[in-house]
Amino acid sequence: MTLSVRTKITLGTLLVVAVGLLMTGWLVLRSSEQLALDRIIEDLEPRARLARISLEPLLKEASPQDSLALLQAKALELSVQAGARVTIIAPNGDVYADSATPVDGVARLENHGNHPEVLRAWDTGRGTTIRLSELTGHRLLYMALPIAMPGSVKPGVIRLALPLSQLDAQMADLKKDLVLTLGFASLCSLFLSLLLAKGVTRPLSEMAAVVRRITDGALDQRIQTKDQDEVGRLASTLNQMADQLEARIQEVSEDRAQLRAMLTAMVEGVMVLDARGTVLQINPALERMLLTAGLDLRGRTHWEVIRHHELNELARKVLEERRNTSGEIELAPSGRTFQVEASVAGGQRENEACVVLVFHDVTALRRLEKIRKDFVANVSHELRTPLTSIQGYTQVLKDGAIASPEQAGEFLDIILRQSERLNLILEDLLQLSHIEYGNVVFKQDPVSLRALAERSIAVVKTQAEKNGHTLTISIPEEVSSVLGDEDRLVQVLTNLLDNAVKYTPPHGHIAVTARLAPRGGLCMVDLMVTDTGIGIPESDRPRVFERFYRVDRARSRELGGTGLGLSIVKHIVEGHSGAVWVEGNRPTGSCFVVRLPATAPDTTS
Ligand code: ADP
Repeated sequence: MTLSVRTKITLGTLLVVAVGLLMTGWLVLRSSEQLALDRIIEDLEPRARLARISLEPLLKEASPQDSLALLQAKALELSVQAGARVTIIAPNGDVYADSATPVDGVARLENHGNHPEVLRAWDTGRGTTIRLSELTGHRLLYMALPIAMPGSVKPGVIRLALPLSQLDAQMADLKKDLVLTLGFASLCSLFLSLLLAKGVTRPLSEMAAVVRRITDGALDQRIQTKDQDEVGRLASTLNQMADQLEARIQEVSEDRAQLRAMLTAMVEGVMVLDARGTVLQINPALERMLLTAGLDLRGRTHWEVIRHHELNELARKVLEERRNTSGEIELAPSGRTFQVEASVAGGQRENEACVVLVFHDVTALRRLEKIRKDFVANVSHELRTPLTSIQGYTQVLKDGAIASPEQAGEFLDIILRQSERLNLILEDLLQLSHIEYGNVVFKQDPVSLRALAERSIAVVKTQAEKNGHTLTISIPEEVSSVLGDEDRLVQVLTNLLDNAVKYTPPHGHIAVTARLAPRGGLCMVDLMVTDTGIGIPESDRPRVFERFYRVDRARSRELGGTGLGLSIVKHIVEGHSGAVWVEGNRPTGSCFVVRLPATAPDTTS
């Protein structure tokens, strides 16, 4: 059983007070009785001496054995005078006379020679003792004095006995008073000890309540005290502790928030594992990469989160070998490529950061690398073809064909065409690199879409007519103009129309249309070139904007294409903060969409 501090203090104080009061009561009783007894003895002694003196002449006159009746009468007389029982005892202890015993009973009284007061009277000249009377059951005070006996060297004894019933009654009254007084005092002390206990425990209880509130998270709670004693010092120490705790928690929360903000803002994916491979932290970027945003993956093992053999091998290696490592993996859901850096964080126990995996998305980088490699291969190939042709025909001319004017003319025509083609490729490449390096500044003028379409159509019109194509323009009123560089936009549209004419069999239909495309508060315009030509397979559509990418290489070359036209289109459109893509046309053909920023209504021309 656990007692509260208040109960302990109350009981302790009460016990001390009760023991103190009981001892005091006992001492008071004892000393009062002793005092009263001393007074009674003092009072009894002269009466005993007087009785002895009164008895002495009788003893001198006759031998005691012969005058027993006289002695008995004298004892009775002395008893009345002294107010006490009088016993006359022979030197051998036999009783000669006793005022409390009838004459015929005296002889039957026991020998008193060994009674303590008698023995002490013989030894010291006076003997007192207190005993319970066998006759009355009351306490009796006996006082014995030696008295000379004729014919005997040893004296006899005269003994006075006084009942202490009055003293006992007084002591009983005193005891009753003491019990009442001490009881009252105990009650007072109980009350005081309760007050004391309350005084001591109240601040403690208040402190306990405040500490409980702090434990429950109310860190601003403090103990209010002005006391300077131990309890006051304890309270201020607890307050200091709470201050430090609050500061530490604040610090930890700030660190946590900063860390979380860092993890959240990071473009790289981050996963922190403990020594058992359990995920402790995973940042939003990685959740997006794994397509698991919104799921709480913490607490699961890394192989549950990413079911990827190479990654699990990587993590296992770091966990077992405790050294940094890295690897490149491709994640299935997104098909993206990641460079994973696995670093040892040092923690060895459960829930301690042991390994940090950082995922860099290198998909774009790898694609660019591939494009660069393809570009080098393509450009060499594209340049080599006309060059080989030029070299070949020059050699043939040198070897004698120059002598035949007819052959020489034909070969020189081919050489001229191939060098023009080389020139065309180099011009397109130069233009692309100019745009890429930011050397081309695009104007931001309002450009009428109709004027744009008409200028562009004029360029391809002759060829289109030759092929028997119909060319139409359909531009609604509300999308009449865009913001941009008119000459560059004419180049874009001409390129698209030129391709449409090239890749549409005779008697096809080519249309230039436009529509509004509101997007996130910005007003954009979609300018579209649609044809009924051979179309582009869906898988090739995203790639036709790459340099030298051609769906049908031989056909493109035959038609005089460099494979750079759509790349230039894409660069110019993106330079206008726009976008370009290709869709399929039904039942056949392609639809190229150029999205450009529209002009504000009042700037429309
Ligand atoms: P090219 O000079 O070969 O035309 P482009 O960059 O202009 O080069 O076009 C790239 C490839 O896209 C072309 O080789 C062709 O295969 C395809 N292409 C472009 N426009 C069309 C179209 N309107 N219809 C079908 N295919 C097209």
